[in-house]
Amino acid sequence: EAKGAGRDAARFYEPAIEQLVQQRLLLEQQLRHALQAGELSLHYQPRVRADGHGVVGVEALLRWHNAVLGEVPPAAFIPVAEETGLIRPIGAWVIEQACAQLAAWARQGLTGFGVSVNLSSVQLSEPGLVEHVRSCIAASGIAAHALEIEITESLLMDNAPQADQQLAALKGLGVGLAIDDFGTGYSSLAYLKRFSIDKLKIDQSFVRDMLTDPTDLAIVRAIVALAHTLGLQVVAEGVETGHQAAQLASMACDELQGYCFARPMPAVQLERWLRTRGAQPQRRRAEAIRP
Ligand code: C2E
Ligand code: MG
Ligand code: MG
Ligand code: MG
Repeated sequence: EAKGAGRDAARFYEPAIEQLVQQRLLLEQQLRHALQAGELSLHYQPRVRADGHGVVGVEALLRWHNAVLGEVPPAAFIPVAEETGLIRPIGAWVIEQACAQLAAWARQGLTGFGVSVNLSSVQLSEPGLVEHVRSCIAASGIAAHALEIEITESLLMDNAPQADQQLAALKGLGVGLAIDDFGTGYSSLAYLKRFSIDKLKIDQSFVRDMLTDPTDLAIVRAIVALAHTLGLQVVAEGVETGHQAAQLASMACDELQGYCFARPMPAVQLERWLRTRGAQPQRRRAEAIRP
């Protein structure tokens, strides 16, 4: 009976759940205006070569500061942005902003590195994506290969039919493609053959415990070997200690990213970081982190 069902449903609707729903509504409400209100910004985290630690790229990471909610982490608002479709304008802005920033750095004489952006699966299913990327590259004047797009394994599986076309078109522009959080998604490796991927980013969960957990170390080794066998570059994410960096370098991992080198930071702070770093001999740094 309908009345009874309603009462049952009401019984499940407890204050804790109501609070969650309210929080989620508030987040969504605030997120709707975040872009126009200028509450979003990008932080940039350097990625360095494992041998010598020269900076090869920076990853653009979204930050949201809201007057009501404070600093909201991407893990909390990206899923909401994806579910509401807000990730379309936000994601488009990220690409535009990242390209413009790289061009601005080049004008300041800060060159020799590229920029990576994270792409959500919602964006990949948008027909205008490739044209948007093309126009951001053209408008900023950066080299297409200086832009790298990070996608996750699940994105490839969810979008398989469209992903083929869109990724091929992106590759056609000359941008790089990296698989983010590699090893945590579907373990089907068939897509590595189907899509022209340039790079694998080993998920930070494997890197975190690689020095204490032999299984994690074995997984990291296997991913490095897999990448190199397929002619791909491999990056370790979440490198927090010099010991991890040295171990990864000895395994011939190509690039490293993590707090060991730098946290994500605003553009101005990154400029300072790049300049002070450039003044220091790279060799010294490499020696300093050897165990
Ligand atoms: P991700 O793309 O895998 O980015 C790496 C995350 O690890 C970042 O978290 C970064 O701050 C963090 N990290 C870097 N080095 C270390 C380390 O040494 N130790 C630890 N514990 N963490 C480290 P963040 O900035 O909170 O971003 C989380 C996720 O949110 C990203 O994971 C990405 O999936 C998503 N995201 C961020 N910005 C964007 C964006 O513009 N678009 C989309 N679609 N997703 C984004
Ligand atoms: Mg990423
Ligand atoms: Mg990752
Ligand atoms: Mg991630």
